[in-house]
Amino acid sequence: MSSLEQIASCVSGYDPDALPVEKAQEFIRRFVPRVETVEKLPLRAALGRVLATDVVSPIDVPAHDNSAMDGYALRGTELSADGPTRLRIAGTVLAGQPFEQRVAPGQCVRIMTGAVMPEGLDTVVPQEFCQVEGEVVTLPAGAVRPGDNRRLRGEDLARGRPALSAGKILRPADLGLLASLGQAEVPVLRRLRVAFFSTGNELRSIGEPLEAGCVYDSNRYTIHGMLQRLGVELLDLGVVRDDPQALEAAFRQAAESADAIITSGGVSVGEADFTKQMMARLGEVAFWRIAMRPGRPMAFGRIESRGRQAVLFGLPGNPVAVMITFYAFVREALLAMGGATPQPLPLLRAHAEQSLRKKPGRTEYQRGIVRQVDGRWQVRITGSQGSGILRSMSEANGLVVLHHDQGHVAEGELVDVLPFEGLI
Ligand code: AMP
Ligand code: MG
Repeated sequence: MSSLEQIASCVSGYDPDALPVEKAQEFIRRFVPRVETVEKLPLRAALGRVLATDVVSPIDVPAHDNSAMDGYALRGTELSADGPTRLRIAGTVLAGQPFEQRVAPGQCVRIMTGAVMPEGLDTVVPQEFCQVEGEVVTLPAGAVRPGDNRRLRGEDLARGRPALSAGKILRPADLGLLASLGQAEVPVLRRLRVAFFSTGNELRSIGEPLEAGCVYDSNRYTIHGMLQRLGVELLDLGVVRDDPQALEAAFRQAAESADAIITSGGVSVGEADFTKQMMARLGEVAFWRIAMRPGRPMAFGRIESRGRQAVLFGLPGNPVAVMITFYAFVREALLAMGGATPQPLPLLRAHAEQSLRKKPGRTEYQRGIVRQVDGRWQVRITGSQGSGILRSMSEANGLVVLHHDQGHVAEGELVDVLPFEGLI
């Protein structure tokens, strides 16, 4: 595993005191390890888990050419080009019951959707095109072309070809696809374990009285929710006071039992330095000032205890900054640590309903409400954007991402929006 210093030398123009968002992301990407333990799960239990190995199809799906329609199977060569085609019905073939008889020239077979195409027949004419009188079917010229309405053997998955790639987060379609291969068990990577706690003497947990100058700890709930959506195992270590012994105990417990640690608070410049000191003492930690808003201060590195170590994300304390830094850095890092191949999040382009002030030289994440008006996407900002105003986040349905080099935005201008739907 590389040291922070080694990684710093690989990230061009690395400056911990003025770190662009993309550089911080690159740094994190290079630093984090990936879990390797594989476990086998029954198919249904694998939803949302990360596939550990490529899956190669052991069979052709479908296993035979079959009909895509209810109708009549025939030989494409027997379709008449300039008049109706007349064929004699030789029998019926149902799904799951192969038709063993030979079909003579001039004959067709009544066929149901999914039934195996009888030997020699390659075309299906849907029943609504056909006129049936006794044993004879008549279809008009041009109703079908040779090969129509036939599903080819292996057209979904061909035997020996990759069906799913390692690193895929399994979705309902993937479970179905694995089932279509007859696979009862799936190899997945073990779930990532993430420990988290809040730091600050002013924090009170729900249920405790709120003394003067105190606030309820909300970050632990936001973090819990965001982590739960990522499908990791959670270890909630509560509120930890700004006290060296308590902090050391929490960091050690976290490092010994988790792959990653997320803390909030205690990394800003004005802080009593306990948390930062403790992080630096128990591992290898960089303290960054990221060119972003909200969320400027952040600690990143690893904490060690008794030969075990965990990646540390020391997030700022402000409730909005916690969420923004989680989305900007932690989400992708945890996905990568869990073995997933992270996909870039799709951005929406929307017209700003108001002008936005923005300084070039930092990335800003403003909380917005995006909606469609007369077929075009528009976005407005959710009131005051202070990094302590969690309501701005709760009311929003997306983040307006104002990129590093971007300046002020005029009313009506197009901006990038990261919709919350599907974010984690
Ligand atoms: P800090 O980064 O520790 O200086 O905290 C910055 C601001 O965020 C302060 O106003 C803290 O009271 C507030 N804050 C820190 N942690 C939490 C938390 N877990 N829940 C709610 N507010 C917090
Ligand atoms: Mg604090």
